[in-house]
Amino acid sequence: MPATCVAYNCRIRQKKGTGISFHRFPFDRPELLKEWLKNIKRTNWQPSPTSLICSAHFTPDCFEGRDPRYRPKLTKLRFNAVPTIFDFSDHIQKSLFAARMPSCAAIGCKNRKEKKVDQNARYPEKPARSIHRFPVSDPPLLRKWLQAMKRDFIPNRQSFLCSDHFTEADLDNTDEIVRLREGAVPSVFDFPPYLANCSVA
Ligand SMILES: [Zn+2]
Ligand SMILES: [Zn+2]
Repeated sequence: MPATCVAYNCRIRQKKGTGISFHRFPFDRPELLKEWLKNIKRTNWQPSPTSLICSAHFTPDCFEGRDPRYRPKLTKLRFNAVPTIFDFSDHIQKSLFAARMPSCAAIGCKNRKEKKVDQNARYPEKPARSIHRFPVSDPPLLRKWLQAMKRDFIPNRQSFLCSDHFTEADLDNTDEIVRLREGAVPSVFDFPPYLANCSVA
């Protein structure tokens, strides 16, 4: 049996050559374990010593630098690493019985696509926030976005960032809809403290 990741909605299995690593729970550190379980959000569930979580749930800064003496794909979690990246989208939808719009891909941002007009917004006559798709057809720019948002994931055509993560100078408001200026890179994020001082290579 290949190892399976315990995270909700994660279908990643242990396979050679995928670059995904699997990690055991920090049973020797109860405080850290509590953090992990809080984020994993599985009800009525306790990890066992054989439970594994895959590296897709950790931001890149959670890993030790790869040591050339070891096998090339071996990754080791840093001492205080906590998994933060989970996909609870259909879980939330089911529990609320509501068709929710997808949310912004920025860590910690709860904004969803919205149609409401807000008089206090930056551009009162337009929706309070605009959403901006990832520049998937421009890999160097995409890399800048991912570095800026400190999240190593593969955006799909549905993935977006809300306009809260861009400065006024990044946004072109002259048109009916708010657009990003060419080459704009998001720079406004509200990172949790453990991410505030680290950067993604
Ligand atoms: Zn996983
Ligand atoms: Zn956002």
